[in-house]
Amino acid sequence: MTIARRAQGAGARRGGTFRRWRRLAFAAQALVALGLPFARVGGESALRLDVPAGRLHAFGAAFAIDEAFVVLAATLLATAAFLLVTLLLGRVWCGWACPQTVLGELTRWVVPERRAKPRRWRRPLGFAATAAVSALVAADLVWYFVPPGEFLRRLAAGALGPVVAGAWAALAVILFLDLGWLRATFCATACPYAKLQGVLFDRATLVVAYDARRAADCVDCGACVRVCPTGIDIRDGLQMECIACAECVDACAPVMAKLRRAPDLVGYFRGEPGRPGKLLRPGAVALGAATAACAALLGWVLVTRAVLDVSAVRELAFAPRRAPDGRAVNAYSVALENHGRAPVTVSLAISAPGGTVAVRPDAVLLAAGERRQVRVVASAGGLPPGEATAVLSAEARRGAAVVDRRTEPIPLLVPRESP
Ligand code: SF4
Ligand code: SF4
Repeated sequence: MTIARRAQGAGARRGGTFRRWRRLAFAAQALVALGLPFARVGGESALRLDVPAGRLHAFGAAFAIDEAFVVLAATLLATAAFLLVTLLLGRVWCGWACPQTVLGELTRWVVPERRAKPRRWRRPLGFAATAAVSALVAADLVWYFVPPGEFLRRLAAGALGPVVAGAWAALAVILFLDLGWLRATFCATACPYAKLQGVLFDRATLVVAYDARRAADCVDCGACVRVCPTGIDIRDGLQMECIACAECVDACAPVMAKLRRAPDLVGYFRGEPGRPGKLLRPGAVALGAATAACAALLGWVLVTRAVLDVSAVRELAFAPRRAPDGRAVNAYSVALENHGRAPVTVSLAISAPGGTVAVRPDAVLLAAGERRQVRVVASAGGLPPGEATAVLSAEARRGAAVVDRRTEPIPLLVPRESP
């Protein structure tokens, strides 16, 4: 048997070291993505965007639309961290965590086999698995908007509604087409992140590369090319199509072992093989500082964000009137929201210069993240007829500690006394 033939046999055996670690990473990522909507924190999904209520639920906290600055700070942090990771570790995201790669691995049976006698049952089964994966992943995406319990109840009752059912179906079809046909072609042609590689990489970025200094060790068995999901030849140098999946590393390693040659003819290298760059270089330090600054900004925004949100409007259906004891009675619709991760008791009071105002109710208990509309009735005495300047104050307490205090100007109408 020739060297290349023996090497081909070694390279054809799948299941290398990186492949095992990547599968573990894929399983962890799938567990997180599928599990987050089911995990409950403070009575809500761990992560969910409630579109009708305009609120983002994230790990026990509820962010209203007017708190978009928190999302902005989190986005800045994620962007800076992503750039830093890319500069240091190259396309580790693409090969180890990107859903396109993870789902591509789960549905790899749809890919035509490169062998003399392809197994006829493999592709139909692959498409069936792809359809099931697409439906499940599409439902999982919808669960980040509609809680899974509610989704499944409505599905069982045949009452998903056109918006939810339409979104589910559209996402499932897009995923099926993507996983069935587009697959890694998307990474090589359309992915904007791949196009940014040239800008984000430097001489010390971790890459999968072929050590051209050892070209004499390559027996041209083609194993590294056959396993490449994007169909490139790593021996041609670093290419935009490479998603750093390390399949070629796993394919070449047994070939080198079988031929008793040094490992890592194809492997992970920090920069060009033979010319490793410095780990601590100006770009990495600058991006590290930017990431730390964004993390500090997010921490500051979270620590200083208001616990309580209050807005009040006069109830138009309730005409201000005089009570039998002569006090002026007004009614308000007060929206209270607890942004915190623990329950609070909100004490309500209204002040108007020169008068005394009693309110009912004067205290409301709000659960963590709860938003409630409360009808508040105010009865005022000692004020002249007309519109008085009044202020609604709401004080949130946890036990004896005051955690927030908000005030809101409100109109207080004092009708004339009946003759
Ligand atoms: S060249 Fe290697 S690391 Fe890059 S995509 Fe192909 S198999 Fe994966
Ligand atoms: S680099 Fe590719 S072709 Fe060369 S020995 Fe390794 S697997 Fe075979």
